[in-house]
Amino acid sequence: MVKINRDSIIYQFGPENIPVAKIGPGGTALLETDDCFTSQIQSEKDLVTEVDFSRVNPATGPLEVEGANPGDLLIVDILDIQVGSTGFMVAIPQEGVFGEMIKEPSTKVIPVSKGKFHFNSSLFFPVQPMIGVIGVSPGDRSMPCGEAGDHGGNMDAKVITKGARVYFKVRQKGAMVALGDAHAGMGDGEAVICGVEITSTVKIRLDIIAAPDFVPERPVVELDDRFITIAHGPTLDDAARSALEDMLDLLRYKTSMPVNEAGMLISAVGDLRVCQIVDPQKTARVEMPKRVLPDPAKPLFF
Ligand code: CA
Ligand code: CA
Repeated sequence: MVKINRDSIIYQFGPENIPVAKIGPGGTALLETDDCFTSQIQSEKDLVTEVDFSRVNPATGPLEVEGANPGDLLIVDILDIQVGSTGFMVAIPQEGVFGEMIKEPSTKVIPVSKGKFHFNSSLFFPVQPMIGVIGVSPGDRSMPCGEAGDHGGNMDAKVITKGARVYFKVRQKGAMVALGDAHAGMGDGEAVICGVEITSTVKIRLDIIAAPDFVPERPVVELDDRFITIAHGPTLDDAARSALEDMLDLLRYKTSMPVNEAGMLISAVGDLRVCQIVDPQKTARVEMPKRVLPDPAKPLFF
């Protein structure tokens, strides 16, 4: 298994990146990820106002997937996510939903132990590890890891967790996969501007479906019981509409339902959810139960 340490990072997804390793289809990799501030915050005395913002939102990688060509569908199986022992959160004036009410920056250290993160001495919650940033090279341009796009990036979707299968359209030879920005927990919306930011070790398996007849333009996630479209936009409305349209396309491809029928089915059992509303590009997702598919026991794409 290929191991990549947390010094092998990129701050943007793009064609200029040099791969840190090559992996053949079916290969696995263990990636250490740094936290979203690249370890510049270590205690409650370290304030976000002192952070060098040219070093935020690192993603570990990129990994070149041998044989991946533009138009292929890349499969990233999230086999495991182990988070570190200390998470933190920040509040920043003029950032996030509450920015106008936040008068000074603050940092909160959030210890993690025995599968729980401790928000304070009396409030603790089960760790729900997730990956905030994951994507492939956009191919034709570079995109900062802090942004979301058709290639993935900073989606902050809670469904990208252990056991998830994430599909990306390959846009550059080798795909060039990278990931980071793990959270020990995050509420949908990420209202204050962050989740419980933390280092992690992520085990993935990579595979390719060569030039399938349907390739979703934006990332799709598959869980045991659900499949999910994720989209972005300058407003939450735009992101939501895009995620819904993506789901309509995907559902019609899988079931051959006419528009009206597929639209009604999404309206009946599809859940539109917020990923985050605090970044310049908002992200939203639509979750559908797999049993609407003709053969729910099969993978979504194969
Ligand atoms: Ca994020
Ligand atoms: Ca984050």
